[in-house]
Amino acid sequence: MLGVETSCDETGVALLRWEPQAPGSGLLAHALYSQIRLHADYGGVVPELASRDHVRKLLPLVREALAQAGLTPADLGGVAYTAGPGLVGALLVGAAAARAMAWALGVPAIGVHHMEGHLLAPLLEPDPPAPPFVALLVSGGHSMLVEVEAIGRYRLLGDTLDDAAGEAFDKTAKLMGLPYPGGPALAKLAEQGRPGVFRFARPMTDRPGLDFSFSGLKTQVLLAWQQSDRSEQTRADVARGFEEAIVDTLVIKCRRALEATGTERLVIAGGVGANRRLRETLAAAGRQDGFRTYFPRLAFCTDNGAMIALAGAIRLAAGQGQDEAVRVQPRWDLESLPAVAAAT
Ligand code: ATP
Ligand code: MG
Ligand code: FE
Repeated sequence: MLGVETSCDETGVALLRWEPQAPGSGLLAHALYSQIRLHADYGGVVPELASRDHVRKLLPLVREALAQAGLTPADLGGVAYTAGPGLVGALLVGAAAARAMAWALGVPAIGVHHMEGHLLAPLLEPDPPAPPFVALLVSGGHSMLVEVEAIGRYRLLGDTLDDAAGEAFDKTAKLMGLPYPGGPALAKLAEQGRPGVFRFARPMTDRPGLDFSFSGLKTQVLLAWQQSDRSEQTRADVARGFEEAIVDTLVIKCRRALEATGTERLVIAGGVGANRRLRETLAAAGRQDGFRTYFPRLAFCTDNGAMIALAGAIRLAAGQGQDEAVRVQPRWDLESLPAVAAAT
């Protein structure tokens, strides 16, 4: 299975041999090209530039992955691509290329939901989680708590009312003068920050419910930063306070979601899942409360082709993905996905 990811500013390609019991052991190659430098001058992703760069990079990456795996196109049995949600032009590049390759090779192709890809990424690791579990999906465009009854049966428990967690990291970093994309840079800075020097609110934790809101936190941080001495140590201290507020908030809501669903397994995925403090704090909460945590490796938290190959392989194995249309869905509700019959 060839996996193709082009929903935003990363071109990701992977090759996966379908191993139902241990999908991760079937990963043969993965290659990624990040457009970060292309968009840095603009302080954000420019959709038209993103599409064009996917056009330039996608086929060379496919060739690179095939070479890594020692395979030829004739060895492919199927092609999976991200069909949404994401930037329409960027999605169309991946969809058109994937459908064309599949058609030329006479193999099936399947459009994958990007967030299902993120959600299933921990299945690429050894000892993968089995449903039912709760998934915390925290990325550049989403902050969701999802109850996973089975693969393909997703119930949204909580969502963000405004900024996504990754977006909050990126925007706050920008306010503090860090270069784009600021999320990972802010997290790195927070490592040097002292705990407790700045304390920010844990939004929406003082009332019941599983929704998030991160946009007010950003404003709080901006005010604190503007009113400070703006020294390097202060910048790190503010970053630390911000990171602790986000992590605490996410941990509180995860605990609530696990309690509400009576589940003992928690999957964390999406770009913010690469955050060290979040990983450590959730793992510690799990040891204390008796739930197990499952994370993708760092490279598979952010966008990648492997998670798309995996999600596509699962659905193709279940007999889905029969049509030939090049169709993308820039907006796509995770709950609307069809269920997957138990893999045999
Ligand atoms: P979506 O998946 O919602 O469509 P996306 O694909 O752009 O959005 P991802 O690639 O999953 O998002 O993740 C990117 C986000 O993760 C960015 O907002 C980035 O700042 C954030 N991120 C990456 N590493 C870290 C980290 N170590 N700490 C905090 N945030 C991080
Ligand atoms: Mg990205
Ligand atoms: Fe993503």
